Amino acid sequence: MNRLCFTLTHLLWIAVLCCSCQRLPERITDLPYTSFTENTGVKPAQLTLRNERCTLILANNSAIIKCNGIPVVMPDKLSKDPNSGKWDLPLRSVQTVLFTLMSPPQKLKAKTILIDPGHGGKDHGAPTPFSKGMSEKILNLDLALRLGEELQKYGFTVHYTRSDDSLIKLNRRGNAVAADIFISVHHNSAANPDAAGFEVFCLTPENEKRFAQIRSGVQLAYALQCAQKEVSDSPGRGVKFANFQVLRDAKCPAVLIEAGFLSNREEALRCADVSYRKRLAAALARAIRENVLL
Ligand SMILES: [Zn+2]
Repeated sequence: MNRLCFTLTHLLWIAVLCCSCQRLPERITDLPYTSFTENTGVKPAQLTLRNERCTLILANNSAIIKCNGIPVVMPDKLSKDPNSGKWDLPLRSVQTVLFTLMSPPQKLKAKTILIDPGHGGKDHGAPTPFSKGMSEKILNLDLALRLGEELQKYGFTVHYTRSDDSLIKLNRRGNAVAADIFISVHHNSAANPDAAGFEVFCLTPENEKRFAQIRSGVQLAYALQCAQKEVSDSPGRGVKFANFQVLRDAKCPAVLIEAGFLSNREEALRCADVSYRKRLAAALARAIRENVLL
């Protein structure tokens, strides 16, 4: 009888441990860090979380963090309660951003990838003042087709929302075909000619039912942002969140790439360079492959 109780107690403990392994953190102090360092001697106060996978640097009253030096703009600002001294961050940022970045990458099960070259037809996209005869829609299509070719070499099935110069409605892109990963490809533009850098958007996590899907998107976005650094010394603008329709419509992990600013002379020339687009497409495809269990 004692032996039976002992065995049952053990089984119960194993069950409890298994459940706790799968539990998602609810606050910053639940995250899987090995060191938690506050620096209140600087303004704004900083918080550094470390584990074997990354060093995260966060700041009071800011949504911008650095993960191994790569910027990530969370959907929410971090705050430190001046009375209790406790750090506070809404659940969605804890679970979809910080927990994803601090956890070992979970390989996605993916076979089919839907690539969406932005704009097309009469919608030319961002202006290209530094490359005559070029337009955002042409660059998007070229980079998208190159990315697709590289992914096919790895054995992925690739679909495109457009593979020629046609205009596809926004609401026919994110869900054009059933896919395991959705990637929208764009190039950027800004009034400030100095604005530069590659960035990747994920869907703003508003519905808790989609947190798992968004976590996979964040993992992919971070990998793509790192991959771009391999082929350019341009400072990456990082991973960001937006409520873009194409991301909202996608029923799978989804990201939107802004491959560079066409309003920045140096970057516009780089984006217009075929050899750069080739290298970028290969690096992005490699990053996707590394995050997928084919
Ligand atoms: Zn665009």
